[in-house]
Amino acid sequence: MSDKHKAIFLDRDGTIIEDSGYISRPDQIKFIPGSIEAIKLLKEAGFKVFVITNQSGVARGYFSEDMLQTIDKVMHRHILNGGTHLDGIYYCPHHPEHGVYPYKQECDCRKPQTGLIKKAVKEHNVDIAQSFMIGDHSCDMEAGANAGLKTLFLLTGHGEKEQSKVKHKPIHTAKNLLEAVKWLLAQ
Ligand SMILES: [Mg+2]
Repeated sequence: MSDKHKAIFLDRDGTIIEDSGYISRPDQIKFIPGSIEAIKLLKEAGFKVFVITNQSGVARGYFSEDMLQTIDKVMHRHILNGGTHLDGIYYCPHHPEHGVYPYKQECDCRKPQTGLIKKAVKEHNVDIAQSFMIGDHSCDMEAGANAGLKTLFLLTGHGEKEQSKVKHKPIHTAKNLLEAVKWLLAQ
């Protein structure tokens, strides 16, 4: 009965904020220039906007799940202060080889697997056909493609070194999130 929503799935590190390794404290959050503006443009264009992020630093013991949630809250506060918002932040704290149970496990949510995207799709009634995944890593492109999304690739973060590893060709490659979003909204 309810309408389906078009959505953008964004990676976090190297896409919205700088990827400085494993971010383990809120004061390490540094926004990539233009990324809050990009989220604002997407919201104004009627997209739901979700973050889909691998955070194996939890499994590896670099930071706790509580700290991860604090970091995400602080990031979102900055986004709210910028006059826009995210519709959800979905993270995978697992790793198949590192850490201890329950974080050490073969999960279905660590990108390139699709568990987190599928969860957001279900919880928010997302129309896959009108939706996109954007990120700086080959696993983002694969997760997006595996979930049936069109993908956009970024040269921020790990983008430069990951570009040759991307198997599923994105519909567009951009120098950063804002450029990617402007391109997408001009189509
Ligand atoms: Mg990334």
